[in-house]
Amino acid sequence: MKKNQDLAPLMKNFELLHETPIKDGISRRKALKLMGLSPIAASVLASSASTEAKASDAKGKIVILGGGTGGIMAMAHLRKSLSNPDITIVAPNEVHLYQPGQVFIAAGVYEGKDIELDNNDFIPDDVKWIKDEAKTIDADNNKITLRSGEELSYDYLVVATGIQYHYEKIEGLSVDDIGKNGISSVYLSDLEKGTHTGAEITWKWFNDLKQAAADGKKPRALFTQPDTAIKCGGAPQKILYLAADYLKENGLNAECTFCTNTASLFSLPNVAEELARTQTTYEGMTTKFKHVLIKVDVQKKIATFAHAYQEQGEWDEDFEMYDTTDHYEEVDLEYDFLHVVPPMGPVDAVKNSSLGWQKGSAKGWLEVDRYTLQHRRYKNVFGIGDICGVPMGKTGGSARMHAPVITKNLIAQMEGQEIKAKFNGYTVCPLKPGYGKVIMAEFGYDGPIPTLPFWTDVSIPRPAWWAFDVYMLKPMYQHLMMRGLM
Ligand SMILES: Cc1cc2nc3c(=O)[nH]c(=O)nc-3n(C[C@H](O)[C@H](O)[C@H](O)COP(=O)(O)OP(=O)(O)OC[C@H]3O[C@@H](n4cnc5c(N)ncnc54)[C@H](O)[C@@H]3O)c2cc1C
Repeated sequence: MKKNQDLAPLMKNFELLHETPIKDGISRRKALKLMGLSPIAASVLASSASTEAKASDAKGKIVILGGGTGGIMAMAHLRKSLSNPDITIVAPNEVHLYQPGQVFIAAGVYEGKDIELDNNDFIPDDVKWIKDEAKTIDADNNKITLRSGEELSYDYLVVATGIQYHYEKIEGLSVDDIGKNGISSVYLSDLEKGTHTGAEITWKWFNDLKQAAADGKKPRALFTQPDTAIKCGGAPQKILYLAADYLKENGLNAECTFCTNTASLFSLPNVAEELARTQTTYEGMTTKFKHVLIKVDVQKKIATFAHAYQEQGEWDEDFEMYDTTDHYEEVDLEYDFLHVVPPMGPVDAVKNSSLGWQKGSAKGWLEVDRYTLQHRRYKNVFGIGDICGVPMGKTGGSARMHAPVITKNLIAQMEGQEIKAKFNGYTVCPLKPGYGKVIMAEFGYDGPIPTLPFWTDVSIPRPAWWAFDVYMLKPMYQHLMMRGLM
């Protein structure tokens, strides 16, 4: 690994961490201790420490739907900000997955138990915890029907139900195919049961790919990204680069093809350029833009992609623009290995209620104002996390920024005050162009929002961000974010 002299002290820590096996518990503890002393740790913690206002005496029954990242953060912030909180959380899951860690399991850096947290540690006794799911939401009557059939009323509702996967929308593919015939998917998990099988399957898949490459035949590996909103928009590429780097480290390579619905590798041009440069460092890596996986023949190992594109025609004198012709074709690609990112959508309970956007590309996602996160039609309803139908960010980093905004705005609503707090669209994508470095792409509605004032270029791959991501982020999530402390 190349040394950056400016980062020498931190790199020293980082190298020390890597002297001992990554999967060794003692080394991880040592790592945390070391990283806890780092200037980055201090700076990030300082920049994100919340300034607590005096607790409000506002009253009302608050129901939170969902006990994942957003639901627990909302609960923790609201509980601290109200003098007499009356909070009920509807969360079926006791195991709370630290989902960013699924990528590190897939890459062989974490083990399964590393990402299994416990909601019993986060939900205090003074919060009523209903271990069930909302089946229907009747927002006109402030009522929820649970899967058990029980009805629950609320004065204020926080929707934090996250996202639903739709593997079934890919013809010929079922969830049971993942882990067989060269197919993997890092996303595959059951948040209610707290399982993360896709991550383990993907680590085995990395090793099967390595074995195939070592056997001499250059394997063909496809990596997909669907045409829906997805959580952690960077994860499809994280798996692409980590798999390719895993081979490279072993002196091997594959024909890696990234098939994405998008027209560029990232929405920020300088990050897209850096990723394009990254791809040139892996022999045999290419991207097929505007290619959406629609069908898989799992036996024959053929993936079919919808490819919609426009062709430029003649210059039109009258309209002073080029004519364009729309084309559509279906493209069959043979593969040996296929990493699938499923189409995703809002959870049924929200999609089938009156709370979703009624039309447009966000149809079914929670219809909240993109700045205040207050529902545009039901003023006693707020959203946090992936379920929000806002243009930016389905990441835990976004949910962290949503939490103080909805807390202030919900309390203002309870107090009959003006709704003032605004979400700036913050999202964060810790892209991994290879092992040992991360591009910490932080941005919002108006462009880059770097957390650290001395690293304003969010497109640069940095070893320190890898160390931060592997060793610090999870403890910060577990001990600070889940407790409303940042
Ligand atoms: C592979 C992967 C990598 C990622 N990497 C990163 C990263 O590096 N950085 C980052 O910031 N983010 C990352 N994320 C995204 C991040 O984990 C999510 O954005 C975040 O968890 C969203 O929080 P949420 O509360 O909206 O949803 P979740 O945390 O998914 O929680 C939703 C909860 O709602 C529950 N639920 C669903 N329906 C109902 C219902 N009807 N009633 C009650 N409860 C319900 C579910 O069981 C679940 O527990 C990653 C995600 C994945 C999968």
